[in-house]
This record gives sequence, structure tokens and C-alpha cells, in this order.
Amino acid sequence: MDKVLVILNPSARSAKGKRAAQAIRDLSQRVEVVESHSFEEARKLAADAAARACPVVVAAGGDGTVNAVIAGLAGTATVLGVFPTGTMNLFARELGLPMGDIEGCWRVIDAGHSKEVDLFEAGDGIFVQIAGVGFDAQVIEETSWERKRKFGPLSYFMSALSVAGGKAPKLRVLPEGGEALEGAFVLIGNGSLYGPAFRVFRDAANDDGMLEVLVFAKQRHIDIIRYLSGISLGKVEKMKDVTYVRTSALRVECDKPVPVEVDGELSGTTPVEFKPAAQRLRVLVPESGESV
Ligand SMILES: [Mg+2]
Repeated sequence: MDKVLVILNPSARSAKGKRAAQAIRDLSQRVEVVESHSFEEARKLAADAAARACPVVVAAGGDGTVNAVIAGLAGTATVLGVFPTGTMNLFARELGLPMGDIEGCWRVIDAGHSKEVDLFEAGDGIFVQIAGVGFDAQVIEETSWERKRKFGPLSYFMSALSVAGGKAPKLRVLPEGGEALEGAFVLIGNGSLYGPAFRVFRDAANDDGMLEVLVFAKQRHIDIIRYLSGISLGKVEKMKDVTYVRTSALRVECDKPVPVEVDGELSGTTPVEFKPAAQRLRVLVPESGESV
């Protein structure tokens, strides 16, 4: 039987992370775990495995680890598996992988059902789930590893409180073939899930070649609370200071550099172009997919 390479982000400094890492190592003799300590290391491990024609590479970590592994696998025949051991695990949730269940995720990998998903470029970065310009990238900037370890998903709310109320940038959003828009911050979805598993982009599909784009006019505390309640009620795109656009590509500019995030990781600043990547990615999913 083929070995299955698992690229593990040892955020295992926490007890929970250590238990997950051990559970992965104990799964099967087929599992070969390598630790990566940076985005670049994870990307390179994945790219090298693909160059050796490994059929499957598994990312064990959060959305950041998945993002690094995707950057290494894009354009190759290697299929991605995921052990969701991070803070948010949005992409794994989007795929319907069992949460907190390493053995369940292993059964999905072992069964070999897969689907093809879109990848999008964002400047020099690539993403599969979400991207953002402005507010949410600033929130990520503010959220330390220490705070994530202590407070989990709540850590992002705490950072959001401190970022909200700051001076909002004036972004220009230029969807391909559409009207130019202005806003304080932009959220972009390939998948539907965002934040601590909010279904922000209700009609998103990660295999339709399109991005869902929400442009928010303001970012005062009161606005962020309004937007969050709009999101939780499933009607944010109907709010009068929120614009919803579907497009396959867009550009975001500002008079000053504003941070950009892809899959929850900081990735440069404006100006930034979002567009379909040349290659798609095959991912292992529960049942109903095609066999690898
Ligand atoms: Mg889509």
C-alpha cells in the first residue's frame, strides 16, 4: 500500500495539538508524518511530494496549513487530504469533514472519494476558501498565536473589537466587467463559510469558477455589530451599506497599502488582483465524490 504523506503544523505546543498529532501518528503504518514550521516549508514539502508523484498529500493543521500545502500542490496530479487540527478549519468544514475526529477523517482519506475545486490567485498568493482586504486582514494581524491558543475562535472577536473604530481605508473595488465600488473593507468567498463557521456567502460553490464578493461601507463598532447580525440572520447582502457582487475576477486598490488575507493568512497589501488560478485542485471528501 502507498504511504500517505501528512504535512503537520505542530501548533502542538498546546496539549490539544499534541494529542491530535499523536492520534495521526497512531492511525496506520501507511501514515508518514513530517512537521513543517513555516508556510514556505509546508509549501515545499507538498511540491516535492507532488514531484515524486505521491498520489495523496494530507495537510494537518488549520486553514493556513491547508493554504501552504495547496500552494505546493496546485497544478499537479496529487490529491489533497485534510486533518482539521487548527482553530477555524473552514475549508474542512466546507468539505463536510468530521470535526474533532481524526479517525473519521482518515476513513475519508482512505476511501479515496474526491472532488475538484477552484483555486484563485490573490496577488502572489493563492486561496481556496476565503480572502479579505482591510478590516479582517487587520484583525488577523492583531490576533497573536498566544491569543488563539488561549481563547480559540473568540480571539478573533477580541481583535475585531480593537480594530473596529480605527480609521477606515477608502478602498476602490473593481469587479471584472462591472461597476467600480467603494468601501471600507471587502470579504471574498470561494467557499461559503467564513469566521467561526458563519455561512457568509450563502450561494457560494467552490467549483463554479466564481467568487462571491461583499463590499462593506463602514467599520465602526456599531457597523461591525450590524453586519454580524445581518450575517447571522442570512441577509447581510440586502443591507443598504453592503454591496454583493459575483465575479470571476476583481482588483482592489487604495491610496495607501491595506493588508490582504488569503485563507486567514496575511498575504501582502493593496493593490491586489483576484483571479482564477490556471489549475484546479482535487480534494478528498466524504462519500459521493469520484474515486481517485
Ligand atoms: Mg465559487
